[in-house]
Amino acid sequence: MPNVPPLVATVALGLVLAFSLGVLAHRFKLPPLIGYLVAGILIGPFTPGPVADQDIANQLAEIGVILLMFGVGLHFSPQDLLSVRGIAVTGALAQALIATPLGMAVGWWLGWSLGAGIIFGIALSVASTVVLLRVLQERRLLETERGRITVGWLIVQDIAMVLVLVLVPALAALFNEMETAPGFTEIMLSVTLLLAKLGIFLAVMLVVGKKLIPAILHYVAHTGSRELFRLAVLAIALGIAYAATELFGVSLALGAFFAGMMLSESRLSQQAATESLPLRDAFAVLFFVSVGMLFDPAIIASAPVALLATVLIILVGKSAAAFLVVRLFGHSRSAALMITASLAQIGEFSFILANRSLELELLPAEGRDLILAGAIITILLNPLLFAVLDVYAARRERRLAEAAADQREEETKMREPISPTSLADHVVLVGHGRVGGFISEALRERKVPFFVIEDDEDRVAALRELGVEAVAGNAADPEVIQAANLPRARFLLVAIPDAFEGGQVVQQARAINPSLPIIARAHSEEEIGHLKRHGANIVVMGEHEIAKSMLDKTAATAAPAEQPASAAELSPPILVEKPAATH
Ligand code: AMP
Repeated sequence: MPNVPPLVATVALGLVLAFSLGVLAHRFKLPPLIGYLVAGILIGPFTPGPVADQDIANQLAEIGVILLMFGVGLHFSPQDLLSVRGIAVTGALAQALIATPLGMAVGWWLGWSLGAGIIFGIALSVASTVVLLRVLQERRLLETERGRITVGWLIVQDIAMVLVLVLVPALAALFNEMETAPGFTEIMLSVTLLLAKLGIFLAVMLVVGKKLIPAILHYVAHTGSRELFRLAVLAIALGIAYAATELFGVSLALGAFFAGMMLSESRLSQQAATESLPLRDAFAVLFFVSVGMLFDPAIIASAPVALLATVLIILVGKSAAAFLVVRLFGHSRSAALMITASLAQIGEFSFILANRSLELELLPAEGRDLILAGAIITILLNPLLFAVLDVYAARRERRLAEAAADQREEETKMREPISPTSLADHVVLVGHGRVGGFISEALRERKVPFFVIEDDEDRVAALRELGVEAVAGNAADPEVIQAANLPRARFLLVAIPDAFEGGQVVQQARAINPSLPIIARAHSEEEIGHLKRHGANIVVMGEHEIAKSMLDKTAATAAPAEQPASAAELSPPILVEKPAATH
């Protein structure tokens, strides 16, 4: 019988189980992330049943981190990064200064060496990129000031971690009192060398990369091949991450972040983000599976007190430091809580440090097990932490509202609030790409009031500049769609290419306004049926319309005396007059 190659088995098992348990978690109103972690535990070596390859899972997770950081870089300009450097450096440093002595105390209590305690503490002081970025993305916080601070903090931690990893062999030799123990000058030399390499990497990126990378992408965009464009995006993200690590000793994540940042000012950045999205999501899921696989439930029974202490250091110790620093920099309590909560976990950086230190006999196996268990527990608790904060924020908001402190209300929500538009008798347009853009131009010309829901923040910003009311977000999100004031709308036009999401949008809109005329976009007969079943009155399929238009044009060419087709003929008169509702 042929064997399934381990890579294929790991991807297949990981994705199938993560998908099944993710859906199950969603069904019970839990974050899907919990399903992914449990999937990992199930295919991990410590539970019965099939076992996936841990090493391969880790490597796949690494690709997830690269693509995530690349995506974040795409929304981040060098100025954004510089603007948060003060708080990010202070915060990351404060967290390390609090977590390290606490970790050392646990190590001392467990009878470890001083070096082991230090490494343990440092490992607890850094947060996981993947967990943090997902939180920021889900809550639309990435492009807010709090989001920028948190990402800046992450970048500082990443750079610090690279430094620590370089120093681990020296520390191991020092603490294990080996003859190879380097002197102070040697240590300083290797740190200086690393910083110099980082400097050269940054300089190369800013001088050459900033021009070359967008130029490559623009060139490929002009070839008109979507496949080549996608390939270019992946080649840039992974290629630069690889080169950064191989040539400059920078981490893969940091390399990818800078690759993305070089594109942030290009008008193609959004398209680059869209093209890398599906792969990024799939690999981020594999990241959680790989973390789950590391978890050995036996540690709960063998060292419960030490585990509790580990979790408390992560949740309380380093959070207190983060909270204080953010408050000291003059930010609101809710901003401080949000930043603190997103950093109250540990992940991939801690694993790398733990494994490296274990190899060098600097950290005992128990230390690594505590770090792994601490990671999975705090990652599991992270969504719950945010749920608690949401409740807290809602309460606080109510109190503030009672006190009529309107101005401060906005700050209190952990999720940026969206207030419904005051437009009435308006058209609601979902999606502002090739199709929606065409529609909105016609609507503006005809002075028909309209409101746009569009996923892409840059497109929304451009619309707002033109004076068009628009909200950034996924129209399938109930909170986003309520911004459109559907009860008073004249029409809903769902101009997004994905009929599955379109169906969700239509269904929600129909529930809000049963008599609203809804027109949706489809690409196949099945999609037409799907959208109609969800409540669309009219579904337009691109291919049908092209065929009709071609026929019309043929007829017009055959009988030149007749009027040629004008742009007005192409746009339905329905947008100008309000028809009787058909539903
Ligand atoms: P196109 O296919 O060129 O007409 O572009 C579709 C547009 O719809 C893009 O600008 C997407 O960002 C946007 N879009 C896709 N899905 C959604 C969604 N669920 N909610 C809001 N906008 C979306």
